[in-house]
Amino acid sequence: MTDVSSSDDPTTPKFSELGLHPLVLQAVQAQGYETPTPIQAETIPALVEGRDVIGLAQTGTGKTAAFALPALSDLAEAGRANDGPFALVLTPTRELAIQVAEAFTSYATNLDDFSVLPIYGGQAYGPQLSGLKRGAQVVVGTPGRVIDHLKKGSLKLGSLRHLILDEADEMLKMGFAEDIEEIFSQSGDSRQVALFSATMPTSIHRLTGKYLNNPKEVRVASKSQTGSNIRQRYHMVQHSHKLDALTRILEIEEYEGIIMFVRTKQATEELAEKLRARGFKASAINGDIPQQARERTIDMLRSGKVDILVATDVAARGLDVERITLVVNFDIPHDTESYVHRIGRTGRAGRSGEAILFVTPREQRLLGSIERATKQKVEPLSMPSVEQLTNTRVEKFTKRIDDVLATTELTELATVIEQYELSRNVPATDIAAALASLVLESNTLKADPMPEPSRGKPGRDRDGKPGRERSSRPRDENMTTYRLAVGRNERLQPGAVVGAIANEGGLTSKEIGHIDIRSNHTLVDLPKDLDSSVMRKLSNTQIQGRPIDIRPDSGRPARPFKKRNFDKQPGDSRNFRNDRRGGAKKFS
Ligand code: AMP
Repeated sequence: MTDVSSSDDPTTPKFSELGLHPLVLQAVQAQGYETPTPIQAETIPALVEGRDVIGLAQTGTGKTAAFALPALSDLAEAGRANDGPFALVLTPTRELAIQVAEAFTSYATNLDDFSVLPIYGGQAYGPQLSGLKRGAQVVVGTPGRVIDHLKKGSLKLGSLRHLILDEADEMLKMGFAEDIEEIFSQSGDSRQVALFSATMPTSIHRLTGKYLNNPKEVRVASKSQTGSNIRQRYHMVQHSHKLDALTRILEIEEYEGIIMFVRTKQATEELAEKLRARGFKASAINGDIPQQARERTIDMLRSGKVDILVATDVAARGLDVERITLVVNFDIPHDTESYVHRIGRTGRAGRSGEAILFVTPREQRLLGSIERATKQKVEPLSMPSVEQLTNTRVEKFTKRIDDVLATTELTELATVIEQYELSRNVPATDIAAALASLVLESNTLKADPMPEPSRGKPGRDRDGKPGRERSSRPRDENMTTYRLAVGRNERLQPGAVVGAIANEGGLTSKEIGHIDIRSNHTLVDLPKDLDSSVMRKLSNTQIQGRPIDIRPDSGRPARPFKKRNFDKQPGDSRNFRNDRRGGAKKFS
């Protein structure tokens, strides 16, 4: 058994050293992954060599890529199978089947005519049958439904090269042991097996002893302990709500410097930019940033020019800044050892430190591993209430007034106010309130309630991934989605959007479609063929004193196809196909 520990280890290999096919490697790099996770670093070379593998790893460790990348690499090398799928992945649930299919699609972007088909119970046979007939190279299914298709003859495993079991312990717990054995026996001897499981009960030992050939066993180890001067807290949140949760938490937390960890290079830039848009002094560091620039950014954190560094594990290696009092794990790390390294960035020089961890519901298990590894309880952190937030805002505002009164010579301005008070006969408190609203760019300190959960389906929030925030497709095909540069941060209400567009652009309210107010922008559906004169008028329009800067919404550049594919799921088992020559993915 090989124990693997941390991707923060300088000896971690590069993706390019794992033996993957160049087309697959390019796709991984496009995902923004910097280094393989520990489970990937150990299992990928063994799988590429053709060995059977047992991986003891849970969700969040990067296990999906650990089995998907070698299988796709082999597919890129060998070409498709003639009779039945090239790879079969068994998963305990339909949600996981869909997620795994989604991951395969994203790693296969450079493979011509790639298709993956999820098949699971509770879904009509018709689309599954035609999907299988068309020939999917990868089938991802729940064992019961796979058996049904084997019995019907609609699925054949004669040319199967890769049999993968994901969350094997869960499948056995759900009573799929017999089905799995049947699938093993029908899949011939030449297939390679990769079995991933969070635990290793005797039932798995028995299964692997019977069907696997001299497997390499890899386990993500948890060994380190942290200093007890660091308080650890977690907040359970869907990925799409992390930013809102974070800004609320930061409003009431006391901190000097913060280091915030995300999974990918792109995510460091994206999050730093979103934080800057919300008024924080934030900068990104990642493996693409040259050493000198990285040093400069770290110095800015040291000197207080920047308060938040958004980093990947690799970029934060060896970082020692006393001013860091809070570590935020915006994305949970893939292994406990990395977590320990991360939170060790605070609590330096004997000071105390704080660590906050965002956990999505699917990642709950990793939380238990972290508690075991750090031998410390990770306490739940609840969202500050509207009242708490409002009180904090009032307190901070009051303090600003105290500070100005204590430190600034105000006689001249006081005379102007006095004259105003006398000439207009307005009470001094009203004048002060008017001035306060100018300073705050708002007439309230009251916090908004936390936004409602988004329309996305919780089970399909690919944890830790950007790119799921919105769909820019209009709901009506005669409409186009436009983007306005004002949003919830400006306390925008739908009425104000309708008012501005109707009054300035001369549109009727019927012509104004769905309005989606986001934190720093708004998406609104308007007729496709808007006259250029209307656009001109709208482009000069302001809401709450801010130019709306209207423009057609280009949609999110990162992986738009995924959203498109999975908007159709579940209940639609049409293959997810890649068509490299055509550029975009199509749904066939
Ligand atoms: P999994 O354990 O397979 O559910 O993966 C958890 C998350 O980690 C997914 O969002 C993956 O996209 C992401 N991920 C997988 N491998 C890497 C890597 N090497 N670097 C960064 N993120 C990764």
